[in-house]
Amino acid sequence: MKKILIIYTGGTIGMDYSDNGLQVVPGLFKSQLQQLAPVANVHIDLIEYENLIDSSEIKITHWIQMIDQIKRAYTSYDGFVIIHGTDTMAYTASVLAFALKGLSKPVVLTGAQLPLVHRRSDGWSNLIDALYAAGQEDLHEVVISFDHKLLRGCRARKVSTDKFIGFDSMGKTPLAEFGINVSWYKDQWMQARQTEFLPIVLKPVKILVISLYPGYTTDFVAECLATVQVKGLVLRTYGCGNIPLQHPQLAKSIQKASERGIIIINVTQVTEGCIASNYTNGKVEGLGMVSGSDMTTEAALAKLTVLLSTDMSDTAIRAAIGYNLAGELTQK
Ligand code: ASP
Repeated sequence: MKKILIIYTGGTIGMDYSDNGLQVVPGLFKSQLQQLAPVANVHIDLIEYENLIDSSEIKITHWIQMIDQIKRAYTSYDGFVIIHGTDTMAYTASVLAFALKGLSKPVVLTGAQLPLVHRRSDGWSNLIDALYAAGQEDLHEVVISFDHKLLRGCRARKVSTDKFIGFDSMGKTPLAEFGINVSWYKDQWMQARQTEFLPIVLKPVKILVISLYPGYTTDFVAECLATVQVKGLVLRTYGCGNIPLQHPQLAKSIQKASERGIIIINVTQVTEGCIASNYTNGKVEGLGMVSGSDMTTEAALAKLTVLLSTDMSDTAIRAAIGYNLAGELTQK
């Protein structure tokens, strides 16, 4: 019998309706879990957070707590399921994908668009599929189980607030599909790590995400880059990494910020796409930015968070950003 640890952090799945909108209710998810007869052949232990949250409240301390809980329980369980709100699930999945270094067991995040108390809740199938995935011996990575699909955590994005689809991995083949039959696309799965499981302890590093937008925003970004005191920055540029080179200050500010030691990752604002210097306006290598390839903003932020928590040099971090560490990018 497989042993799975569920870490319940909050989110819609375990919420109930109140006069003040949907809210978390301590103990409710636990009582609902007890009704899960279809997975009676799985041994489940549950850790419920003392302060259940709507995932918009997620903080680095929650990630540190999750990483620590998985680390301490690692040898006692076959897999882990994290119950999480959908709003920031892709951020948490990405952070865990990089921070759980050497992971060789499944860590599956799931939640729901409708709470389990709702008759048409998607939470039941999401949860059952997550438990099923968490029992897969060949799955060595952090994934999201949602709407009958298993997605790589560091490729996923929240794509809908009002459809059951919830998440998508932007054109990438899912890792499994839970139809009437379950299709496990194992050729897409990460290979087992040969290294020891050595999770990284996160530090509260100062990282910023900035999106370009025509007009005053561009002036503001240029001004901000000239003075801002951060260690890492994700710059969401246009198309395949283009920036307005004719702007009087922007390029210079980016270059100066890089010279001040800020590690800047260039990612595209486009939902599905990759940084490439196809255009004159995309020839920005000289500015010191590191190409984020086809990483999502969520993955780029998570990668910076984790790499900047290590004692790697800035040069090593800049190089590591271009490597495919957890299936997050297409390495050229
Ligand atoms: N606001 C909720 C949360 O992220 C949304 C959800 O769970 O679907 O906690």
